[in-house]
Parts: sequence; structure tokens; C-alpha cells
Amino acid sequence: MNFEASVGFLGNLLAPQFEVERDFFRPPGAYSELDFLTSCSRCGLCKEHCPENMIKLFSFSDGAQLLNTPYINPNESHCTFCNECINVCPTGALNHAGLTPIGLAIINKNTCLTFKEVMCDYCVYSCPVQGAITLVNGKPEINKNFCNGCGACVTNCISDEKGIYISTKVQLERSM
Ligand code: SF4
Ligand code: SF4
Ligand code: SF4
Repeated sequence: MNFEASVGFLGNLLAPQFEVERDFFRPPGAYSELDFLTSCSRCGLCKEHCPENMIKLFSFSDGAQLLNTPYINPNESHCTFCNECINVCPTGALNHAGLTPIGLAIINKNTCLTFKEVMCDYCVYSCPVQGAITLVNGKPEINKNFCNGCGACVTNCISDEKGIYISTKVQLERSM
């Protein structure tokens, strides 16, 4: 096996593992975690240009592999999918062709108010994606095919403990 073929072979083996282990969110437009790690130059331009100020960079304490690479947390603030981070990325680590959902919203039946017989639909009306979340028999339901993981529903949920959250794991299952 020549060098290029063996790198490709190793990449094929490692890529799913990197995805399974990833427990954080990359900004929109990132391909698989292995592709991202090998193409991001750690320049921080995406962080500088995010109008929502939601992109952070991993620090030294997170390990050399992640150091200075960007991440977001749609459970804390929501991504508008303005794509500024993609537009300024000089290496294509974030790119329009890689634009897939950043996560998937999950209803927490223990904390969503509708499961305590309270009428509520704040998440439904805050969602910018038609059909991603609907009320079914008075309770919110997520459509996996439409939800992009933006986090607007989490930001706008009125339950103190948040009745909805964005998961990376389900997104990984969906993309494999
Ligand atoms: S798409 Fe816009 S809001 Fe979302 S992370 Fe990129 S720059 Fe920030
Ligand atoms: S349900 Fe709507 S608001 Fe919530 S993450 Fe999905 S697309 Fe965004
Ligand atoms: S806004 Fe929160 S509490 Fe209200 S229905 Fe949505 S997830 Fe449940």
C-alpha cells in the first residue's frame, strides 16, 4: 500500500471514531471531525467574525489536538446560520458544501412544561425552520429531517430547567 493509500485507509478507519467521540459542536459547514482537524488552520477568523459572538476556541487544557479550533454551544446561545464563519474561513475547513445540521433538538419529557399539563408552545413559535418542531396533542415533537440544531428553541424555552436541548450524538447517528 503506498503512502497516500495508507493515509486514506487510516482516515477511513479513524473518521467514524472521531465522530463518535465528539461531544461538542463545530460551527456550521464543518465536514467530519477528522476532515475538520486536518483542514482548520486554527486562525480564529470565524470566532472574530461571528455576529452572535458564540464561537469559542479550545484552549491548551483541552489538549493539543483541539487547541485553538472553534466550537459553539447551541444550548447556550443560538446560531442564526448567517454563514459568516463559513465566508471568512480561509482553508475551507468550514464551507458551504459541508453545511449540514449542527445538532438535533430533543424534548426532555421530565422538564418540558407540556408534560406537566401546562400549555406552552414557545419553542414551536421560536423555531425559524418550518416543520422542524410542531405541537402534537399539545406537546412539542421534533422532525429529524428538518431540525438544523440552531438552538433557537432552547434559548426561547420558558421552563426554568429547559424542556428541550440540542444533542450532538443524535446528529452523529443521523450522519453516519
Ligand atoms: S453561522 Fe453565523 S451565528 Fe452561526 S456560528 Fe457561524 S457566524 Fe456565528
Ligand atoms: S427545533 Fe427549530 S429552533 Fe429547535 S434546533 Fe431545531 S431548527 Fe432550531
Ligand atoms: S418552550 Fe420549553 S416548556 Fe414550552 S413546550 Fe417548548 S420545550 Fe416545552
